Amino acid sequence: MIITKQKPLEDIIEMVAKYKHLFYVGCGQCSTQCQTGGEWEIEELSRLLEEEGHRTSGSTVVYAPCHELDTKRHFRKHKEQLARTDAVIVMSCGAGVQSAVEGTDLPVFPSNDSLFLGNSQRHMHFEEKCSTCGECVLQWTGGICPVTRCPKGLLNGPCGGTNHGKCEVDSDRPCAWTLIYERLESLGELDMFRKIQPPKNYAAVKRPGLMREEVR
Ligand code: SF4
Ligand code: SF4
Repeated sequence: MIITKQKPLEDIIEMVAKYKHLFYVGCGQCSTQCQTGGEWEIEELSRLLEEEGHRTSGSTVVYAPCHELDTKRHFRKHKEQLARTDAVIVMSCGAGVQSAVEGTDLPVFPSNDSLFLGNSQRHMHFEEKCSTCGECVLQWTGGICPVTRCPKGLLNGPCGGTNHGKCEVDSDRPCAWTLIYERLESLGELDMFRKIQPPKNYAAVKRPGLMREEVR
């Protein structure tokens, strides 16, 4: 899921200052889990902005606003409310905000900052474990990603700084390469650890990412 945090309220107030009637789009998936774009957060933000003199023309929670067709469908469904709207606030990741831009000619504003692709471990505990590098190496590393979880992104580790299983960059975190060693050892696959891996092809995925495949 995409991890988000809400922008400071004063920034949101400033970005919509000249728009009276606001329509809110929430996200039923990632941003609901991050508490940045569910029903409750929409209610809270609209209440705070009403205290600043704004009016709420309506709101909707799209299951996953990164789904452009679904987001457009929500805009069609709420077209009467949107006809009375001056600006749209999207409470999702940046992908959802840009879906909304495809679905309306109204000004669209983000209430959140998008942080990373995160694993959800428990309520409001998220950890980045994959940074979508385009050329996965988990087959060599016991399923633990050194590209993301080692701050240096080493493909052959550990570095000289690993300290009793902790990372030298952040001693609160485990050294990813120690985790890889322990995992491969438990799997009886330490030969994999001894193999020198070639340099990574960082051009494996071009940004911005794009995939256009024939539907089967
Ligand atoms: S190597 Fe790491 S960053 Fe790349 S795709 Fe695999 S898990 Fe994701
Ligand atoms: S201590 Fe481990 S995780 Fe930290 S930078 Fe070195 S190899 Fe990477």
